[in-house]
Amino acid sequence: MFQEKRPETLIDSNGLRLDGRKLDQLRQIKLEVGILDKANGSAYVEQGKNRILVAVYGPREAHPKHIALPDRAVVRCRYHMAPFSTEERKSPAPSRREMELSKVIREALEPAILSEIYPRTTIDIFIEVLQSDGGSRCAAITGASLALADAGIPMKSLVSACAVGKIGGQIALDLSDLEDKYGEADMPVALMPGFNAITLIQMDGSFTPDEFAKALDMAVESCKQIHEIQKTALKEKYLSIKEEAEEKEESEGSGE
Ligand code: ADP
Repeated sequence: MFQEKRPETLIDSNGLRLDGRKLDQLRQIKLEVGILDKANGSAYVEQGKNRILVAVYGPREAHPKHIALPDRAVVRCRYHMAPFSTEERKSPAPSRREMELSKVIREALEPAILSEIYPRTTIDIFIEVLQSDGGSRCAAITGASLALADAGIPMKSLVSACAVGKIGGQIALDLSDLEDKYGEADMPVALMPGFNAITLIQMDGSFTPDEFAKALDMAVESCKQIHEIQKTALKEKYLSIKEEAEEKEESEGSGE
C-alpha cells in the first residue's frame, strides 16, 4: 500500500513552499480549448500536476423528456476522477465526494449560463480528472467554463476559480494535495470576473476574520489572473482556425 511521507515543513526558511513557490504564487497553468472532435465544446486544463479534460454537449433535446423545464435549459454536470488519477487506485464508481463536487461545480457555473435562451433542453458538462493534485474542483470550473464557451453557449461571463488556504500558519495560494492534507485550511473560490460576483466559496478548516479577508482578496486577484489566461486560450483557438482557413484559401488559390 502507498505510504505518503508527512513533510517536515510546508514552508522553508526562505519562505518557499514544497514546490519552490512563494505564498502568493499560482501553480503553472496551461489551458487549451476545442481539443475533442465529438463534443460540442471541450477544454483541457493543467494546473500544477492536475490534468483535467472537460467535454460539453448541448443545448440538446432533454432526455429523458420529463426532466425538461419549460423556461430554461437543465444544466447537468459530472465530475469524475479516473482510477489512475490518484496515488492509490481510486474506485471508478462515483463516490460521495464526486457527487458533491458535481453539484458544487454545476452551481458555480449556472449563474453565468443564459439557460433561459434554451428552454426544454439540457446542457451536459463531463469532467474527467486524469491526474489530481489538490484544487481539482477549481481547475475543473475554470476548464468547464471554457468548454461551455467553446460550445457556443451564451454566458454572462467566464467563471474563473482558485483555492486559497493556510499552511504553516500563513495564507497561501493554490494549495497542492500535500499542502491541502497537512495545512490548516483550504478555501475554493469561483468568480465571474466581469461582474466581480462570487459563484462558489467553500471552506475546509478555519481562518480568523483578518485571515479570511486576506485570503479572499488573494483568491479574487488570482481568479482575475486565471481569467486572462482563459481569454488567451479562447483567442488562440480562433486564431488557429483563421490561420487554417487562410492557408486553405491560399492553397486553393495557387491550385487554380
Ligand atoms: P480538490 O481537488 O478540489 O482540492 P479535495 O480537497 O476533496 O478536492 O481533494 C484534494 C485532493 O485529494 C485531490 O485533488 C486529490 O489529489 C486527492 N484525493 C481526492 N480524492 C481522493 C481519493 N479518493 N484517493 C486519493 N486521493 C484523493
